[in-house]
Amino acid sequence: DPQLNHMYTFDSFIEGDCNRVARRAGKTVAEKPGANSFNPLVIYGGVGLGKTHLAQAIGNDVKRAHPGKVVLYVSSEKFINQFQDHSRNNAINDFIHFYQLIDVLIIDDVQFFSRAEKSQDAFFAIFNHLHQSGKQLVLTSDKPPKDLDGMQERLLSRFRWGLSADLQVPDYETRIEILERKMKNDGLDMPKEVVKYVAYNINTNVRELEGALISLLAQSSLNKKDIDVELAKKVLRNFVKTSSKEITIDAIQKMVCEYFDVPYDKLLQKTRKREIVQARQITMYLAKAFTKNSLKTIGEHFGGRDHTTVIHSCQTVKDLMDTDSIFRENVMELTQKVQLAAM
Ligand code: ADP
Ligand code: MG
Repeated sequence: DPQLNHMYTFDSFIEGDCNRVARRAGKTVAEKPGANSFNPLVIYGGVGLGKTHLAQAIGNDVKRAHPGKVVLYVSSEKFINQFQDHSRNNAINDFIHFYQLIDVLIIDDVQFFSRAEKSQDAFFAIFNHLHQSGKQLVLTSDKPPKDLDGMQERLLSRFRWGLSADLQVPDYETRIEILERKMKNDGLDMPKEVVKYVAYNINTNVRELEGALISLLAQSSLNKKDIDVELAKKVLRNFVKTSSKEITIDAIQKMVCEYFDVPYDKLLQKTRKREIVQARQITMYLAKAFTKNSLKTIGEHFGGRDHTTVIHSCQTVKDLMDTDSIFRENVMELTQKVQLAAM
């Protein structure tokens, strides 16, 4: 099937919090097309977050598990063009009839229907027929259905019959996993610290993540130079908007809070709970090490503590790192995160 790219599988679609619901619903749909409560399945999300990949994975999986079923993957643009051709030739019924014979209809990027009123009418007729016959519909969109301006309300209400699941930007760990899988598939290798650096800095979408990897490989072979963080820094300048950022106290506070799962306001208050005191001391230590702020300014960022408190905190952190190996590891890991953020 020329419409389906066999590289787009569930297996190659890394699961994370960002896409778990959509991916699992997709698997269910592929296992029991038409006979599930996700009909239609609407997958939505921004550019490069995996809509086409997931939609195609469903198509590929249905073909594998249900060889008898007729699967069609089509972009909404192509659907609209086909419709307009048939319309010019007075063959709209043929067009609708063709689509009504499909078991699993996958339409990618339905947001483009917004500009095509007549195509929406045809799609409405097809949708109703397929849905009534227990056939499966899978749709993707770059925005949630409710924001699809120019889409007929009767279509939008049908989209609500099934499940709308979104794809979000993968978190850091998932980005690392995606990169590592991609490298494994392509037989590539690069140092873990470079993988981390790329994953840390490319936080827009998966397509850019892949683009960064490709540029990195190209630059490496072009310059006959090993892939290292230095090279990655150069290559990523084209991707990362703000190069060589100045890390701020606020940014460090956020990182530490996230790392220890401590609420931000607790970090600033006078709480004496041990975990929070330590998180606060580590934050001060990192702020001292990685920003150019004075001890006074750092103290002010923690609910108006004075500079002696900051000095004491830094000393405590150093002492604890000598005696407590878990504490030391935490600080080292955070140090690495802050370093990456500051590159
Ligand atoms: P969209 O259609 O949403 O613009 P694509 O499906 O074209 O995005 O995805 C862009 C690229 O990112 C593709 O190469 C795809 O394989 C890859 N990709 C997206 N999400 C994932 C994921 N979760 N795991 C692995 N690769 C992914
Ligand atoms: Mg797409």
